[in-house]
Amino acid sequence: MRIIDTIYIDGRFVTPHGTELFDLHNPATGAVTGQVRLADAEDARAAIAAAKRAFPAFSRTGRAERIAMLHRLRDAVAARRADLLDAVIDEYGAPVSRAGFMVDHPVSLFSDTAELLADYPFVRRMGTSHVSMEPLGIAGLITPWNSNAGFICGKLAAAIAAGCTAVIKPSEMSARQTQIVTEALHAADLPPGLFNIVTGRGDPVGAEIASHPDVAKISFTGSTATGKAILRAAADTLKRVTLELGGKSPTIILDDADLAQAIPLAVNAAFMNSGQACIAGTRLLAPRSRLAEIEALARTAVEAVRAGDPRDPATDVGPMVSRTQWERVQRYIRIGIEEGAELLAGGEGRPDGTTGWFVRPTLFSGVRNDMTIARDEIFGPVLSIIAYGDEEEAVAIANDTIYGLQAYVLSGDTARARRMAERIVAGRVLVNSLAHDPKAPFGGFKHSGIGREYGSFGLEAFLEPKAMLGADA
Ligand code: NAD
Repeated sequence: MRIIDTIYIDGRFVTPHGTELFDLHNPATGAVTGQVRLADAEDARAAIAAAKRAFPAFSRTGRAERIAMLHRLRDAVAARRADLLDAVIDEYGAPVSRAGFMVDHPVSLFSDTAELLADYPFVRRMGTSHVSMEPLGIAGLITPWNSNAGFICGKLAAAIAAGCTAVIKPSEMSARQTQIVTEALHAADLPPGLFNIVTGRGDPVGAEIASHPDVAKISFTGSTATGKAILRAAADTLKRVTLELGGKSPTIILDDADLAQAIPLAVNAAFMNSGQACIAGTRLLAPRSRLAEIEALARTAVEAVRAGDPRDPATDVGPMVSRTQWERVQRYIRIGIEEGAELLAGGEGRPDGTTGWFVRPTLFSGVRNDMTIARDEIFGPVLSIIAYGDEEEAVAIANDTIYGLQAYVLSGDTARARRMAERIVAGRVLVNSLAHDPKAPFGGFKHSGIGREYGSFGLEAFLEPKAMLGADA
């Protein structure tokens, strides 16, 4: 059995001070595959101290040097593609058809950030002042288990581009992926202490980083509840905080949509990443005039979704990451039925022939927007059809949520879809598309977060403007 018993501090792999061993699983079978020795608060403090020592020299590096570092990191992570792919499939249960994106995306984030850095105006003139964009200091980067490498690499790329040093606290559930990413980042031969990686529990390790006086910035991706706890913990030291949190994204099908295209897109939007995606389109808003047609087509499409062995190329949906997540999704399916939603496909239990933490791809109709399954983020393959009368009602339902991360509008008329997109309160609206754009800002309104990642907004989240007056030569 594989035991991961090192963390990464000051450019070296070291044994954690923490002693707790945490079981790692293959979610497709439920079997224990290894253990990770978890860091504790003392390890977090050692990592912060290393990042503090590295900051003065690193913050003075020039643009060209940082671009070269980002390219080295990109190449180093790309070199471990095969290992990372294995880990994403075995540890997270990502279907092989989807896992490629999860290992290529982190690599491209280094390239995109390097490209951005090449042109970014760190110094500009405003009024009678010189305004410079200064690195904030030590950044705490706290990441979830889904798309682990993507979040680690994306946040680290932006921190480095800005001239910040970093302490990274990944999820304990994705320790094997983290180990591979750490080995890759180490191979890029960056200055010691520039980034440090301490895998441990949210409390104490994440909590220590979120409240430590030497940490200037927190960039967090995870659940809304944890985001609020981090914001509170960061308040006493007035840290700058970026939060990428949960979602309950609407997919609005307009009455002129070509359903042959719209239904597969809507089902994919809901079941991407086996439903374990913050941007999953989990509320399908259907015009009442075409409800019966949409229900029938969606039911056929969901029944055709294959849940099973992540290594089978025909698999669409893998398992939930943990037993806890599996139980949580089962509970929501039960609640949907109890609250009177009509089950069109799937339901409680496991798909035939599976033993791990698989959920049956599930479709409800007759869902009202005030039902629990329409309000809570379920984080599993459960799609709810909600009927609407006219466009006004569709917009009202779409926006009647505490979340505002992403939305999808599907229509035969792009101009009409765009008019509707303008009225949706969400950080991103995708019109007839499932595309991902790592150069455009990503983040949410309302309880979906604070701030943005990617592009210049993502870089500026690690910078502070400083104005200098009267210093003209
Ligand atoms: P989570 O909030 O449980 O954990 C995220 C990270 O925070 C983990 O590393 C965890 O150990 C740490 N943490 C937990 N308690 C903490 C505390 N008190 N202080 C500091 N750190 C703490 O989330 P998860 O279950 O790992 O991930 C799923 C959630 O992430 C979903 O809600 C999903 O919507 C969200 N998510 C959001 C985005 C986005 O970009 N908006 C992307 C992916 C996932």
